[in-house]
Formats: sequence, structure tokens, C-alpha cells
Amino acid sequence: MKLLAWLVLVLLVIYAVRKKMTAVMRQPPPPQRPPEVEGESMVSCAHCGIYIPASEALTGPQGQLYCSPEHRALHAPT
Ligand SMILES: [Zn+2]
Repeated sequence: MKLLAWLVLVLLVIYAVRKKMTAVMRQPPPPQRPPEVEGESMVSCAHCGIYIPASEALTGPQGQLYCSPEHRALHAPT
């Protein structure tokens, strides 16, 4: 009877250790970064209307977007 109690105790310890191990190993994967080039939004130049990636657009004094410094200067003279 005492042997059976020990056996149950050992099995419980093994079960607890294994459960803890799997919990540690099952960590959430790192968040995937969204594709920047493919998902980039296109904006149109306020002067000529051409579409350019938002990262390449130039911002005017009133918040308009331009394709080049020339168009920014032409559209919004200082
Ligand atoms: Zn332009």
C-alpha cells in the first residue's frame, strides 16, 4: 500500500514537470511584420496628380502631398 502511494506521487511529479515544460516551450511566436513595400498606400501629387508611394511624397505647408520639390514650390509659393 505504501509502495502504491509512492508510485502515485512520482507519477504526479512527472506529470507536473512535463506540463510545466510544455508551457515554457509553447511561447507565442513573434509578431510578423507586415510587408512594407507591397502594402504601401499610394498618394497623388496635389499639383500634377501623379501617384507616388506615401513614403516618397513631400508634404506641403497645408499638408498636401507632392511628387517633387518643384511641384511643391509651384503649387504653394512662399
Ligand atoms: Zn507632381
